[in-house]
Amino acid sequence: MRIGRHMPTNSKPARAAQMARDLGCETIQIFASNPTAWRPPADDPALCTTFARTARECQLDPVVLHAPYIINLGSTDDVIWEKSIALLSWTLQRGALLGARYVVFHTGSHKGAGIEAGLLRVAQGIARILPETPEEVMLLLENDVGAGNTLGHSFEQLTAILDMLPQYNDRLGICLDTAHLWGAGHDISTIESTQQVLQHCEDTFGLQRLKVLHLNDTEKALGSHRDVHARLGEGVIGEEGFRTLLQDPRLEHVAVLMETPIKLDDNKKEDWEHDRTQIARAKALHDPSLLAVPNVSNIPIISQDALS
Ligand SMILES: [Zn+2]
Ligand SMILES: [Zn+2]
Repeated sequence: MRIGRHMPTNSKPARAAQMARDLGCETIQIFASNPTAWRPPADDPALCTTFARTARECQLDPVVLHAPYIINLGSTDDVIWEKSIALLSWTLQRGALLGARYVVFHTGSHKGAGIEAGLLRVAQGIARILPETPEEVMLLLENDVGAGNTLGHSFEQLTAILDMLPQYNDRLGICLDTAHLWGAGHDISTIESTQQVLQHCEDTFGLQRLKVLHLNDTEKALGSHRDVHARLGEGVIGEEGFRTLLQDPRLEHVAVLMETPIKLDDNKKEDWEHDRTQIARAKALHDPSLLAVPNVSNIPIISQDALS
């Protein structure tokens, strides 16, 4: 299991990779383009190859791209649907240049057309995209909080999309976001309830198809259908469920990525030290033997006289 976080790139992805490595990340997620814009940036092969090489040198593996939020493959509006296909195709192509193994995207909204119509539309969009894009990049469907007409908040819906595309088993997988699970009403706060959720995943899409876990806490209530991410130790899900997820042997192959807001210090500058401890904390959830041991130099030295 490899652990890392989503990194802001500020148009300098190679620098973001180095920062991720310095924070202790073993994997990285970035946006390849503005997440709320249809227009992708101009081609920049040098920027892509430099990032791919830097990520390799920093041993960030896998590299994950998060596709723009505006993509809606579930839309019955042909203009939006075609634009979504074009932008998601571009993201997969860019993913190959950036050395990404996965592109994560939100399955979108049926906008009132109905769940079945929406799921079919998503599958039809994927069937257009995958034959035209590099085979080495997998497309992952991310679960949703289930607000309004959005698709993908239930494991059955995600599975239905996969089941419509059996010819692409090797190129399609699942990304689960813990804050989205919680928002959709999947209780992952205790050992027992989390094991039930995992079993539900195993019985539907199958845990082998889970490739990425977004490790986010939230302050919103279970089943609130709200999507707000909180840092570890600052939300209501808590660490018992996260520990259960990260220690399940069926998830050992999964890349774990936090998508939590970077803490700002009193001068409104990023407090990267805080994120370094967040990464260490997540690693300790996976492997408790990594729990911080007291810094030996801080332990007062007791003189022989005091002991005798
Ligand atoms: Zn997402
Ligand atoms: Zn997410």
